[in-house]
Amino acid sequence: MSTEKMDIPEEMQSTLVPEIMEPETEFKFRCHKDISCFNACCKRTDLTLTPYDILRLRQHLELSSEAFLKNHTVPFEMDAHGTPGIKMRTDNEGACLFVREEGCSVYEDRPSSCRLYGLGSLAKHDQGTSGEHFIHFKNKEAHCKGWDEDNTQTVKEFTAAQGVDVYEEYNKDWMRLMLKKKSAGPSIGKPSELSLQLFFMASYDLDRFKRFIQSPSFSKIFTLDKAEFDKICSDDLELLKFGGRFMLHVLFGEQSVPVVENAAEKRYEERKDIIDMRYKAEVEAHNIKAEELKKEALRVDDDRQDDGHDADSCHDKSCK
Ligand code: SF4
Ligand code: SF4
Repeated sequence: MSTEKMDIPEEMQSTLVPEIMEPETEFKFRCHKDISCFNACCKRTDLTLTPYDILRLRQHLELSSEAFLKNHTVPFEMDAHGTPGIKMRTDNEGACLFVREEGCSVYEDRPSSCRLYGLGSLAKHDQGTSGEHFIHFKNKEAHCKGWDEDNTQTVKEFTAAQGVDVYEEYNKDWMRLMLKKKSAGPSIGKPSELSLQLFFMASYDLDRFKRFIQSPSFSKIFTLDKAEFDKICSDDLELLKFGGRFMLHVLFGEQSVPVVENAAEKRYEERKDIIDMRYKAEVEAHNIKAEELKKEALRVDDDRQDDGHDADSCHDKSCK
């Protein structure tokens, strides 16, 4: 049906529909220390962290990924499949733990949504390509007075000044993964518990992910040439990029990481004894159960015959 001749009365138009802004769209916004709402946005936060946000913050704080996750974040489920997400920890009133009177104490490495505050962003798949890009929209909150400031800039100028571009670049693979999972819908089904654990490691807990890559569990299945292995293990940014590639393999079966020839067969050979033992134990347990049920049925039959009449055709309810 064509919508060209249709009008929505002004009072029925939703203010919640995001106002998409192109890179060249101009808008007035400015945040500075002398503004009356200074720090208001940091005192009521609900920040979802991306893998690159976590990397930058923990490097700033000189913490391992485990320590950062434990002390500064809370987990949540991003979808009905339980895909793990991470939020910034706040105090009981919802204030970010990094806010100080003088402003943000991790300013140089603040997360992407803090940098973009005033605008929101969405990842969008580029039709007909395998690429994604971010689109921006207005995210005007009542307490934010930045919108009343007389400072005009384009979206492109704003994101560049806030250093958002590098965050969007490094978060692209992760966003691609999320979009792909969403667009695959129910067809890929619920990822296994192991896949979700790998997703958590590869996205957020990079120290643990590195240990996994260095372990025999990884090298039995995947093969990386030495130069790539060394690069991944010595540079967390490379490790993060590899994590996105690795998860495309794990979640969607894309052959994005080379596998050891006949890895599945070799793994079966190695675990053959355990698999056979488990199989035999299961068969045995099944046979024992079947034998018990058979004995139970025979015992009931014997009981019925002992009292001298046919219990099956007896109309006395107490007999059954
Ligand atoms: S990280 Fe910094 S900018 Fe972001 S909410 Fe916390 S204090 Fe505010
Ligand atoms: S509420 Fe808006 S203007 Fe005020 S400090 Fe936060 S971003 Fe800046």
